[in-house]
Amino acid sequence: MTSPTEMTDDAYRVLVNYIRDIADKVGLKDWQFFLERVEADQGVIASVEVWGDSTTCTLWFGPPFWKYGPRMQRETVVHELVHCHTHKLVRLVKTTMTNELGNQAAHAMNFSLEQMHEMAVDGIAASWARMLPCIDWSDLSPLYTEYEAQTGGQETPLRRDNVVID
Ligand SMILES: [Zn+2]
Repeated sequence: MTSPTEMTDDAYRVLVNYIRDIADKVGLKDWQFFLERVEADQGVIASVEVWGDSTTCTLWFGPPFWKYGPRMQRETVVHELVHCHTHKLVRLVKTTMTNELGNQAAHAMNFSLEQMHEMAVDGIAASWARMLPCIDWSDLSPLYTEYEAQTGGQETPLRRDNVVID
């Protein structure tokens, strides 16, 4: 058995189920998610795009995501889901900035807005993630045993049922 070092069909299935479970737990029960893989490594860990005013979005997971341990994968998923809660607010601020300040000033402020937005999303995601389960890759394993061996056990699964015993 190989570890999911990329979004294989099995990894896709586990990730879809995991995102559904986490989304339900963080207040996104009525949302629909589409998963896409980013093949080329352009440094994209994950990203999300909400479809207009809807409660549907596309999530992308890039190669760096698959190099993360379970806790960072969990925080990454939660981070992208927090964006679902903030996207309307950010869009309103951007529209208002452009309308009130004009394109040039709005463009100049956009960088700061994005930075502050990401910091807020990160802060919420980091604290929220600790209360949520990690992805259970045990179907695909021995990811955990291999990963633990690589990291000297620094990333220990939080749940006993995540531990794979050969
Ligand atoms: Zn973000």
